[in-house]
Amino acid sequence: MATIQIQQLAKTYAQDVHAVKGIDLDIADGEFIVLVGPSGCGKSTLLRMIAGLETITSGQLHIGDRQVNHLEPSERDIAMVFQNYALYPHMTVYNNLAYGLKNRGYRQAEIEERVQKTAKMLEIEPFLARKPKALSGGQRQRVAMGRALVREPAAFLLDEPLSNLDAKLRVQMRVEIKQLQKRLHTTTLYVTHDQLEALTLADRLVVMNQGRVEQVGSPMEVYKRP
Ligand code: ADP
Ligand code: ADP
Repeated sequence: MATIQIQQLAKTYAQDVHAVKGIDLDIADGEFIVLVGPSGCGKSTLLRMIAGLETITSGQLHIGDRQVNHLEPSERDIAMVFQNYALYPHMTVYNNLAYGLKNRGYRQAEIEERVQKTAKMLEIEPFLARKPKALSGGQRQRVAMGRALVREPAAFLLDEPLSNLDAKLRVQMRVEIKQLQKRLHTTTLYVTHDQLEALTLADRLVVMNQGRVEQVGSPMEVYKRP
């Protein structure tokens, strides 16, 4: 669990593409923030900077009381889930979950315990010995979530994690994500195009446009018509 403090954060890609233009945002410990805005407004870039997958052009990023601008992704205590799940196709579900822990030098017994606990929580225990291609879309999505949660990160970043699922599964997973986040109280930043997801998941909604934050408020405040 941790706060995330974003101060004047900016990203300029090559050829002078100003993707993020000085964002300020204070995220509370355990808060669920949903990030919305038109395609190309800089949502993914912002998430990737927080995760450490993209360099920060200027500004400050604090996770908890640490300034993390120059830390490697593995040193940030953050986990990210992508739209396309990005599972390792040649590994079993078990090893997809265990991989990040092995890399971080966890002991075998600790890995075993955490993988089992996470698999139980997400109800993917029956599939631990399978490879991703032998899973349904919803099961893969759970494995992707599990791979992030198994590390018990301070913060959780999700970039349209449900967009590849059919409508029925999307509703089900949305409810499950909310329950899980409430239970674990993990600080969460969630990107979506889906207004219903935004309404039901967000403690606070952040509306981005052209690399800037346009509006911040409760879902009711943001979506109510004047
Ligand atoms: P969103 O997630 O809101 O759709 P992105 O963060 O993906 O927006 O993109 C913001 C802007 O940055 C867009 O104009 C996009 O074309 C540009 N962009 C994203 N990634 C790169 C990159 N690796 N190199 C150059 N431009 C990029
Ligand atoms: P690989 O697919 O890389 O050959 P395995 O799937 O055989 O690797 O498993 C490697 C390790 O992961 C083993 O030491 C085993 O203890 C553990 N493991 C794999 N699958 C399971 C499972 N379903 N339940 C518990 N532990 C498992």
